[in-house]
Amino acid sequence: MHLSDLTEPTRVPAAEPLGVSAVTDSAAPAATIDVVALGWVDNAGITRVKTIPYARLDAVAAHGVGFAPVFDVFLADDSITAGDLVGGPAGDLRLIPDLSALRPLAALPGWAWAPGDRYTQDGVPYAGCQRTFARRMTERAGRRGLTLRMGFEVEWITGTQDAAGHFVPAFHKAAYGMTRVIRVAAQLRELIRALAAQEVTVLQVHPEYAAGQLEVSVAAQDPVGAADTTVLVRETIRAVAARHGHTVTFAPCVVPGEVGNGAHLHFSPWRDGANLCQGGAGPRGLTEEGEAFLAGVLRELPALLAIGAPGAAGHLRLVPDQWAGVYRCWGLENREAALRLITGMAGERQHTANAELKCFDATANPYLVVGSVIAAGLAGIDDGLQLPAEVPGDPSATADVPRLPDSPAAALAALTASEVLREALGETLFDAITAVRRAEIARTAKMTPLEIATESRHLY
Ligand code: GLU
Ligand code: MG
Repeated sequence: MHLSDLTEPTRVPAAEPLGVSAVTDSAAPAATIDVVALGWVDNAGITRVKTIPYARLDAVAAHGVGFAPVFDVFLADDSITAGDLVGGPAGDLRLIPDLSALRPLAALPGWAWAPGDRYTQDGVPYAGCQRTFARRMTERAGRRGLTLRMGFEVEWITGTQDAAGHFVPAFHKAAYGMTRVIRVAAQLRELIRALAAQEVTVLQVHPEYAAGQLEVSVAAQDPVGAADTTVLVRETIRAVAARHGHTVTFAPCVVPGEVGNGAHLHFSPWRDGANLCQGGAGPRGLTEEGEAFLAGVLRELPALLAIGAPGAAGHLRLVPDQWAGVYRCWGLENREAALRLITGMAGERQHTANAELKCFDATANPYLVVGSVIAAGLAGIDDGLQLPAEVPGDPSATADVPRLPDSPAAALAALTASEVLREALGETLFDAITAVRRAEIARTAKMTPLEIATESRHLY
């Protein structure tokens, strides 16, 4: 969508009933957009917004809205830390919406959403802007003739709050059961319609494993688009659920010891219109370049964990036998491997072959995730890396398969030691991220698993 499309009030595309609220009546006029939420995701993985009246959109698209750089060192609980380069009350930036990504929010009538990029007051891209980082890494790949296709899976748990404030999942058994779908059929139907109205291509919605757990997977797209989409999908799920009296959480651990929510990243590098994850002479049909990209990701995976599963709640989820991918290995369709290779069906592999990072969760900033994965993969190509031997079954049954770092502190140590990610992120972003990680580690150090899970359930 371009600015020229917005000279008339934008209309929510869905003219059909959407479920239970203002847009349920198909005879009612589609809602006019009155308010635009300009969103960004901070280094603690919290989606925050500035909102503007729709009438101001032209002006804001040109010059942005004010934005304190201290937001980059906010922690998940809204307390504030400081890095060596980022922090303190002074300074201002401009948050400028990307109108090509603006979408009317079908489940929030009258509202639209647009992700924003941050600039200095002189109009220079801000070095701490995560979305700019994702775009910069995409362009870095592009200069080498590579494009990336990416998509995040979204897992969440839906339920209600009882009088004592305890979370009650919407259903228990059976995993993947039709009984679950029937319990939330209206909600899921409304969600699919809302996402379609917002130009999100849904591949699948299904009842997952844990109590109250559901999942949406969406089509792969460019890296920045994939990050934009996952933010939009999550907020749409939240808004639709609220219309049904449900509260949802994307937190990695909701009940300690039980299966949690992942935010698996699917990705494939392409060259000259060909998918490098298939059609080659490497393991499982990988091309030499595709293998090197994956090997680069595997090499940086301990450091990437501090980006993709950054917090204490994420580490409560990262336990074996829950398909969270806690082993630093790869394997064809291996759900216990952090890096799962997927080929798809014979005849369609040109389109479907991809790799999936299973260890990541929704407390991550998705822009940092896509940019960091690209940086790691490109470094793998630079160094001509090859993958280690494939792990075909349960990694715990195979000798010498290493675990990923087992705490946020261990992952942060790997990130701090990663020259690849330090260079790619640049000193401002690296400083802000590591300051937030250090402060989160200190903040959660004395919390019990239950306290961590409960807080995370409320925040994400
Ligand atoms: N819920 C699992 C996780 O925490 C993943 C299940 C699956 O493979 O989709 O990542
Ligand atoms: Mg799943």
